[in-house]
Amino acid sequence: MAKYDNNFTDQLRERLSIVDVVQRHVPLTRKGENYWGCCPFHNEKTPSFSVREDKGFYHCFGCGKSGDIISFTMEMEHIDFMAAITELAEMAGIPLPEIKQKSQEQIAAEETYITITTDAAKIYAEKLFTPDGAHALEYIRGRGFTDEMIKKYGIGYAPKNNIISNKFVNTKQDKLIATGLVRRGEYGMYDFFRDKLMFPIFNARGQIVAFSGRSLDGSEPKYINTTDTEMFHKRQTLFGFNFARENIHRANRAIIVEGQIDAIQMQCNGFGETVAPLGTALTEDHIAILCKANRNIIFCFDGDGAGQKAAARACGIVLPFLRDNSDVRFAFVTGGKDPDEILRKSGKSEMDKIINNSMPLVDFLWKITNTNYLVSTPSGKTQAEKFLKSQLEKITDKTLRAEYEHEYDSRKFNEWHKWKKKSEQISIDVPDIELTTKNTLNFIVNKYPELAERYGDFISSFNIDFDTNVPDMNLGFESAEKYLISLKLQKYLEKLTIDRKQLIADALKNNNPDSIKEIDDKIKVAKEKLERLLDTNDR
Ligand SMILES: [Zn+2]
Repeated sequence: MAKYDNNFTDQLRERLSIVDVVQRHVPLTRKGENYWGCCPFHNEKTPSFSVREDKGFYHCFGCGKSGDIISFTMEMEHIDFMAAITELAEMAGIPLPEIKQKSQEQIAAEETYITITTDAAKIYAEKLFTPDGAHALEYIRGRGFTDEMIKKYGIGYAPKNNIISNKFVNTKQDKLIATGLVRRGEYGMYDFFRDKLMFPIFNARGQIVAFSGRSLDGSEPKYINTTDTEMFHKRQTLFGFNFARENIHRANRAIIVEGQIDAIQMQCNGFGETVAPLGTALTEDHIAILCKANRNIIFCFDGDGAGQKAAARACGIVLPFLRDNSDVRFAFVTGGKDPDEILRKSGKSEMDKIINNSMPLVDFLWKITNTNYLVSTPSGKTQAEKFLKSQLEKITDKTLRAEYEHEYDSRKFNEWHKWKKKSEQISIDVPDIELTTKNTLNFIVNKYPELAERYGDFISSFNIDFDTNVPDMNLGFESAEKYLISLKLQKYLEKLTIDRKQLIADALKNNNPDSIKEIDDKIKVAKEKLERLLDTNDR
């Protein structure tokens, strides 16, 4: 990466007042030596963000953030060092100096590299429309690619023969090898990509730095990419980012899909802010690149098990990048196997639905915790707690982490103690069988046939439909039995109460207070039993 010498950054710091730079985003008030305002990096109502004009730095006594005009601009606007320098130079009205030069040799090597890859892309693109490439063209058109899309993304065909090594016969072998397009074998130079549908891979500046080739004869792996070179690092490259960057800014979010064809289809169907990793799992570098562009990220994974797994992994990777201004969500493709299929079969509106139904990170992390651990048991609960803790520890913003912890504490209390909550709900004042009761009975019948047998007459008296598609009620065997007993008692009480009413009505006519006392005693006994039963669940 290009570097400015320290003289220039010093010049910027001299020229610009940090108060002016900060004031563009945060109102400040002067108190003594310092200026004060509400910190833009954490949530607060009373100012603890101090700016020292003469020293040229800021410090937040709330969250500990500190720095100078450059770090402030980078962090505030989510831009990288170069972008911040450029912006501040403009504000200061001083021209950017010449970038400290890379060695002439290095620049020349990079130029040659880009020339070769660009020329190679042209050769591949032409080949696609020759008889040699007919099967490749047929394939890509079959995937809904128009000629316009083929042209925009520079899609081509690498033939079976050594087209690159032959065409570049006058180029130095080492320079060719450096691009990864050609290798040196026992019998001379040979092409790396052969009989492949070719997707150029662009860097952020829009230069072709590598290729991704898709096999056309069904052979595995489906995709092979240029192996890493001086100018291409797979783990740091997001497919489609060069096309998406402007749209990410405009849409104020980025969408990450799993495959490059998905990314192209998304970009061409109204989701210009979409990118994809290159046949690898997502890396921290990928997230870092995106976070510089925008902190609102929607991960869009296939709805299958592999997609769920990849999403869980992505969740772990994105946590350190969370800030209080990030909105990270997880969307899962259902009703089709991937975004490509959804878009071609059902169009943008269906994809919109999937994106709009995306799950916020706070819910997704909760979901995977509850899916992966048996939280109805003490040991499962402990494992789940440990897992959650290990995940939350990754959040670097302390205030934000505390918010997450707080949120999950309340969820743990409300959801992991379902049984306790439910028994409180079974108040003797609720006479009718309601949905939770139905669901619980359904769950018990399906999960514990033994209990279904033992309490069969009672359960069947509810006259409900039993099917296998029941929500998981997180109820252990013992709790389930207690539930049944308390429900039985409750129903018994209801019956007694009705009988009592009838008795009172009769008593008015016949004067029979003894039977009322009798039934009152029965109610008292039943109530005590029920209370004892509910009591034991609290322990
Ligand atoms: Zn702060």
